[in-house]
Amino acid sequence: NNVTLLAQQEKRESSARTYPRRFPIAIAKAQGVRVTDMDGREYIDCLAGAGTLALGHNHETVTSAIRDLIEAGAPLHTLDITTPTKEAFIDELLTCLPGEFAAHARVHFCGPTGADGVEAAIKLAKIATGRSNVLAFQGGYHGSTHATMSLSGNWHQKSALEGLMPNVHFMPYPYGYRCPFGLGGEAGQKAGLNFIRSVLSDPESGVAKPAAIILEAVQGEGGAIPAPDAWLRELRQITAENDVLLIIDEVQTGFGRTGKLFAFEHAGITPDIVVMSKAIGGGLPLSVIAYHGKYDKWRPGAHIGTFRGNQLAMAAGIKTLRHIRENNLADEAARKGQILESALCNLQASFPEIGDVRGRGLMMGVEMVEYGAITDHQGHPKASPALASAIQKTCFAKGLILEVGGRHSAVLRFLPPLIISDGELRDVIGIFSQAVSENCR
Ligand code: PMP
Repeated sequence: NNVTLLAQQEKRESSARTYPRRFPIAIAKAQGVRVTDMDGREYIDCLAGAGTLALGHNHETVTSAIRDLIEAGAPLHTLDITTPTKEAFIDELLTCLPGEFAAHARVHFCGPTGADGVEAAIKLAKIATGRSNVLAFQGGYHGSTHATMSLSGNWHQKSALEGLMPNVHFMPYPYGYRCPFGLGGEAGQKAGLNFIRSVLSDPESGVAKPAAIILEAVQGEGGAIPAPDAWLRELRQITAENDVLLIIDEVQTGFGRTGKLFAFEHAGITPDIVVMSKAIGGGLPLSVIAYHGKYDKWRPGAHIGTFRGNQLAMAAGIKTLRHIRENNLADEAARKGQILESALCNLQASFPEIGDVRGRGLMMGVEMVEYGAITDHQGHPKASPALASAIQKTCFAKGLILEVGGRHSAVLRFLPPLIISDGELRDVIGIFSQAVSENCR
C-alpha cells in the first residue's frame, strides 16, 4: 500500500525529493487525466509530468506507437545514427514549427532532458556569435544542471552553490503584478524593454554584448506569467537590431499548451533558437533544439551524449505531435483555458486572497496573497506561500493534484493534460473552489 512504499522511499531515496513531499502517495496506475494510488484512491492530475503529458496518461495513440516500434524489431538505440523513425520524427516536428522558421531550420537532438536542450542552445549561441555573455530573466526557469541553474532566476534554488556559470545577467520579466519599477501595465513593460535596450546597445552599460537572450514566452515555474505579445515583438526587434540571438525555451509551453503550438506564435515572431522537450516525446524523455541553419556552426562532437534521440520517444513523439495537430488541441487548450480563467476570476471576486489570475491556455496560475492590505518591501501585495500550500493540501485531500510555483511559492499552477474533458475541467474547478473557500476568509 501507500504507507509501505513511502516508507521504503523515505529510507532509500535522496532528500532532494520534491513532489513526494507534497503528494505523499505511491502511484499504481494512470489513465487519461487520472492517477490511482496504491490504496485505490483516484486523483485528477493537473501536474501531468510537469506539463509533459499533453495527451494524458497512457493515451492509446502513444502506447500503440511504442508497442508497434518494439514489435517491428526496430532499433531502440542508435546513438545519433539515423533511422526511419528519426527521419519521420523530423518530418513531423518541421510540420509543427511555423513554416517560415521550418524552411530554414536545422534540428539538433540533445540529451533526454529539457536542461540538456538549454545547454545546447546556449553553447550554440556562444559558438555562432563568438561571445560569452547571456541575458536571462528574473523568475525564469531553465533546468537543474549547473549551467541551466545559472540561467534560472530563482535564487533560493541556487543560493547554496558557489561558482555557477559566470556571464549571466538578469533582466526584468514583464511580471505586471509585481513590476520591479513600481510601474503597472505598459509603462512598466516599456521601462523593462528600455533597460534591455540600453544593456544591448550602450557600450557604457557595463555588460559586454551578449551572445543571446533566453526566455520563456510564458514563465512556467516562475508562476504562469505570460510575456505580453507587444513586449515580445519589441524584444525580438531589439535583439535583431543588435545582432543578439533570441532563444525561446518552449520546454513547458511547446506543442499546444498555451493555445498555439508554440507560445512565441501568439506574438507572431520567430526566435533564432527554440528549445523543446516535455510534450515532444509523448511522455518519454526527448529534447531537441531547432534553429536557423545559418547558425549551424558546431564542430563535429561539439554537443554529444549517449542518449541523444531515444527511438521510443521519437516514435511516441511522432504520434503525439500528429494527434495534437490533427485534433486542434492547441485551439482546445485556448478554449478550455478560457473556461478555467473565467471560473478563477469569478472566484477572485469573492476572495481577496486571490491576488492574481493569469496564464495562457492550459497553463494557468493563481497567486495567493495575505488577507487585508498587507504589502511587501516593494509595496506589492504580500505573497502568501502558506495559503497556497494549504489550498494545495486541501485539493490533494479532495483528489486533485496541483503544483505550487512562482517566485514566492505562492502560485497554484494548473497544467492539466490538453485532452481534459469539459466535465473533468468542471470537477477541477469545483474542487479548487471548495478548497479556496475552506482556506480563505
Ligand atoms: N525549461 C523549462 C521552461 C522548464 O519548465 C523545464 C522543466 N520544468 C526545463 C527547462 C528543464 O527541463 P528538465 O527538467 O527536463 O531538465
